[in-house]
Amino acid sequence: MIEISAPIYIGDVVEMRKQHPCGGRTWEVVRVGADIGIVCQTCHRRVLLPRRDFARSVKKFVQRGAADAGPPAR
Ligand SMILES: [Zn+2]
Repeated sequence: MIEISAPIYIGDVVEMRKQHPCGGRTWEVVRVGADIGIVCQTCHRRVLLPRRDFARSVKKFVQRGAADAGPPAR
C-alpha cells in the first residue's frame, strides 16, 4: 500500500500485492486522473482503478515515470 496522496505519473511501473490471473505482478501507469489506468506488463490487459483502490493495491513502485526524471530532452 502506498500513500493515497502519493504522486502518480504516466510511465510509473508498479508491483501489485495481488498477482494478475496471467501471473504478472507489474503494471505500467498509462492514465492518471480520478481513475488510474494501468496495463499489465505480462499480458498487456488494461484496467482502470479508482485512485483509492489503486493506492491500496500497490505494493511498491518498481520504476518511476518521466516526471521524476525531469522534462524529456529534445
Ligand atoms: Zn496480466
